Amino acid sequence: MPENAATLAETPVTALKGVGPKNAERLSRLGIFSVQDLLFHLPVRYQDRTRIVPIGALRAGDQAVIQGQVELADIRYGRRRSLLVRLADGTGSILLRFFHFSATQQANMARGSRLRCFGEVRNGPQSLELVHPEVQRVDEDATVEVEQALTPIYPTTEGMHQLTWRDLTGHALALLGRGGLQELLPDAVRRDYTMPELADAVRLLHRPPPDQSQRLLSDAGHPAQRRLAFEELLAHQLSLRVLRQRQRRRGAPVLAGDGELQRRLLADLPFALTAAQQRVLAQINADLAQPHPALRLVQGDVGSGKTVVAALAALHCIEADCQAALMAPTELLAEQHLRNLAGWLEPLGVEVGWLSGRHKGRRRQTTLDRLGDGTLQLVVGTHALFQDDVVFRRLGLVIVDEQHRFGVHQRLALREKGASGQVPHQIVMTATPIPRTLAMTAYADLDLSVIDELPPGRTPVSTVVVADSRRDQVVERVALACREGRQAYWVCTLIEESEALQAQAAEDTAAALTEALDGLRIGLVHGRMKATDKEAVMAAFKAGGIDLLVATTVIEVGVDVPNASLMVIENAERLGLSQLHQLRGRVGRGAQQSHCVLMYHPPIGGIAQERLGVMRETTDGFEIARRDLEIRGPGEVLGTRQTGEMQFRIADLLRDQDMVADVQVLADRLLREHPERVAPLIRRWIGDRVHYANV
Ligand code: ADP
Ligand code: MG
Repeated sequence: MPENAATLAETPVTALKGVGPKNAERLSRLGIFSVQDLLFHLPVRYQDRTRIVPIGALRAGDQAVIQGQVELADIRYGRRRSLLVRLADGTGSILLRFFHFSATQQANMARGSRLRCFGEVRNGPQSLELVHPEVQRVDEDATVEVEQALTPIYPTTEGMHQLTWRDLTGHALALLGRGGLQELLPDAVRRDYTMPELADAVRLLHRPPPDQSQRLLSDAGHPAQRRLAFEELLAHQLSLRVLRQRQRRRGAPVLAGDGELQRRLLADLPFALTAAQQRVLAQINADLAQPHPALRLVQGDVGSGKTVVAALAALHCIEADCQAALMAPTELLAEQHLRNLAGWLEPLGVEVGWLSGRHKGRRRQTTLDRLGDGTLQLVVGTHALFQDDVVFRRLGLVIVDEQHRFGVHQRLALREKGASGQVPHQIVMTATPIPRTLAMTAYADLDLSVIDELPPGRTPVSTVVVADSRRDQVVERVALACREGRQAYWVCTLIEESEALQAQAAEDTAAALTEALDGLRIGLVHGRMKATDKEAVMAAFKAGGIDLLVATTVIEVGVDVPNASLMVIENAERLGLSQLHQLRGRVGRGAQQSHCVLMYHPPIGGIAQERLGVMRETTDGFEIARRDLEIRGPGEVLGTRQTGEMQFRIADLLRDQDMVADVQVLADRLLREHPERVAPLIRRWIGDRVHYANV
C-alpha cells in the first residue's frame, strides 16, 4: 500500500477551488465532507454528447445530439401558443417544440439556420419531437467540438447545478494522482475477480470515455461501478465480522447440562419436532455449550414452531443451573408465551415468572427478589425486563422473540445483565423472514438458523381479495362459518398511530357486527383494554367461548388459536406485506382449510394492488419477503436495523444481491490473509458513523 500520501479522505472539500461556505453547506447535506466523499458521489446516469446522431436513426426515448438545417419555423396558436421548428439533416427530419421562447430564440431558429440540439426524443402527434431541447447555432464553416466523454449527471441538492458538479469533480479528479485514494484490495484479489483499480474505476465513472457502454453505466452494471459497490459491501461485511469477533471474545457461561429436562419435555409434547426444529435446536445446544456468547438469529415462518424451540433452549440453560429470560414485544404476546411455557415447564418443576410494565409494587418486588436470589429459573416479559432494577443471579440465556419490534440497543441492554462480566447467550427469533442475501449482509454479526419447514398437517390458507362494497357478503360468510362451529377474526386497521382511535374503530366495528350477527358470541381486543380484560377475552376465544374476535393489529404476532380458521382484514390495502403475512398466520394453524378475506376500500394504488396480489398468490413467508424486498427496497424491509446502520453510498442490496456470496468469501480471506487492510476498509466506507465501536 502506498504510504504517507496525503489521502483525499483527509482533505476537506473546501480545499477545492469553487467550494466556499455555501457550496460546503450544500455538499454536507449529501454527506460530502472530504474530497474522497466527493469522488464516491457517483453520477446517477450519463448523457451521450460525444457524437452527432443522424436524425433518421433516432428512436423515442433516446437522448441525443443532432445537427441539421431548419426547414420550417412556425408559430401555432392551438391550446397553447407554441413555436414549431422542423430540422432536417438529409437522413430524416424531426420537430422541435417550444412553449416558451424569446424573439431572439425565434430569430436564431429562422428557416435556413443550422442548429445543434440535445434533448430527449418523444413521439409527437405527427412525428418524433424534441420538446425544449438545448439549442446551439452552428455556422457553416466553424466546426463545433463534441464532448470527449459521456456527460455525467449527478444526484444533486438544491442550489447545486450539474455544471458545478462537473467542475468540482473535475478538480477532485485532478488531485487523484497516485496514492490519493489508497488501493485497499490486494492485487491478487483484483486479479481473481477481474476488478479495475480503485482510482481508475473512480476516474472512469466520473468521466467515462465515449467507447464505454452508456446503457451498462446507467444500469450500474459497469465493472467500475460493481467494483466500488463490491468494496463497500465488503467493508460493511467486515465491520460486522469484526463486531462479532469482539463480542465473541467476551466470556459466557458454558451451558452443558445432562439434557434430562429437554428429554422430558420432548417426551411430554403431543407432537414430534420437525426435522427443521431438531436441526435448529442442535445448533442452539452447541452454541450454548461454548465459553463465549452465542448470538444467533432464528428465522422461521409464522407457525413454524419457534416457541417450543425457545422452551427447549431455556431448558438447556436451566439444566446448567443458569437463568433464562424470554422477551416479547407486546404484553399480549408475552402473556401467551407465559401460558405456553408455564404449561410445558412447570410440570418439570421449573420455576417460571413474569415481568411486565404493569406489575408494580409488591408483586413486582417479589419477582425481582426471586430473580435476584435465583429461585426463578425462567422469566417471561416485555421490555420491562431490561429496566435497571432487574438483576439476575445468574443469567445464562436471553431469548428475544419477534426481533423486528426491538431496536438493536434494547436487545443489547439485556446482554449487560450477565453476572460478573459474563455476557449471556442470546437467541433472536423472528417471524419476518428476510431473504437470504439480505440476511447475510444485514445480520453478518449473528449466526443464522432457519426453521424452513412447517409442522405436518397444515393446509395453506386460501386468500381472496374483495372490495368493501361486498362487505355484506363477507359478514354473511362469517356468520356461516361460525354457525358451523368455526371461529373467526375480524381485524380492524387504521393508519393512525393513536391507539385510542384504533380502539374506537374496533369498538364501532364490534358493535356493528354484533347487530348484524345476531346470536353469535362476539369478543373484542385492542391495545387500550386493561391487561386482565384482554387476557380474559383471549382465554375465552381460545376455549371456544367466543365465535368472532374483533381485534386491532395487536393480534399481529404470536396469537395461537388453532380452531380459528377464518380471518377478515378490513382496509387490507393499508398494511404492508409482512404485517399482512403475520396477521394471516393466525389462521391455518389447525387441520381444517382456513380462509383469509382481504377487504379493501377502492380505489387503491398500484403498489397496494401488487401487495394484495402477492398475498393471494402465496403463503410462503420467504417468497413474500422476497417480493416485499422488490416492492419496498431493503431499507424498509429491515426496519429498525436500517436506521443509520445499513446506509450504503454506492451499493444497493437489491441490485447487487449477486455479489453477496463473493463478498462473504472475500471477507474471510481478507481477515485471514490481509488483516492490516480490514480497519482501513471499514474506516473508508463506514467511518465512525455507526455504533460498532462501542458495542
Ligand atoms: P411461531 O413459529 O409462529 O411462533 P408457534 O411456536 O406459535 O409458531 O407454533 C405454532 C403452533 O404449532 C403451536 O400450536 C405449536 O404448539 C405447534 N407446533 C409447534 N411445533 C410443532 C410440531 N413439530 N408438530 C406439530 N405442532 C407443532
Ligand atoms: Mg411466535
